[in-house]
Amino acid sequence: MNEQIARLVQLQKLDIIVDDIDGRLKEIPELIEEEEAKIVRENEKKEAVKQEVKDIQVDLKNWEIEAGKLEAEIKKNKEELNTLKSNEAYSRMHKEIGEKEKKVSDVEEEILKCYDRIEEKEKEIGELESALENFKKQVKENQGKYRSDAEKLKLNKKEVEEEIAPLKKEIKEKLLEEYEKIRKVRGTALASAGDSNCGGCYRELMPQEINNLIEGKIVRCGSCNRLLYIDEKQNGTL
Ligand SMILES: [Zn+2]
Repeated sequence: MNEQIARLVQLQKLDIIVDDIDGRLKEIPELIEEEEAKIVRENEKKEAVKQEVKDIQVDLKNWEIEAGKLEAEIKKNKEELNTLKSNEAYSRMHKEIGEKEKKVSDVEEEILKCYDRIEEKEKEIGELESALENFKKQVKENQGKYRSDAEKLKLNKKEVEEEIAPLKKEIKEKLLEEYEKIRKVRGTALASAGDSNCGGCYRELMPQEINNLIEGKIVRCGSCNRLLYIDEKQNGTL
């Protein structure tokens, strides 16, 4: 293989590694943010139950007011009862008191139900709170892992870049410029000429092009412009 092309093949391998690292590094802040959003969602669940408790407390207060009113009325009616002269008025009032007492007992039942529901919801809030604490720990752990992944990737990238720098110095400036230009447009600047096709755009290569490659000349794909190379592993198929 042409020596310059061999260096570019090596450069392309390293550039692909760096691109891959950059891609993964770009995702990490999003992953960390997503962890934060999980906490917000869990917290919202808890806040929703807290709101339910508040609503029940409003109901409870209303029932208690209702019970107070009824009891005051019953007390007043009982006092009136003694002042009534006719049997008819007496039994009507008596019946009315009975109905109100029944209502009071219904209201008291509602009040008890409210207390039960509040107790139930408070328990649920307690459970959500402890789940949230565990969740926060988990999130912190995950975020820590992502951050250390990022550090490792950065180190890794630095190592690869340290390999790239001296390699670039070994490549002729014009060829390197060409490589960078094609890479920018096509993603990869080199394509293997295995199976007598351009590995980038799959155009069939002409025998002359293959001969030139075998002779160690620099050959560009006439279609996608990539610099062609003979993949050592595929050498035999040419
Ligand atoms: Zn091509």
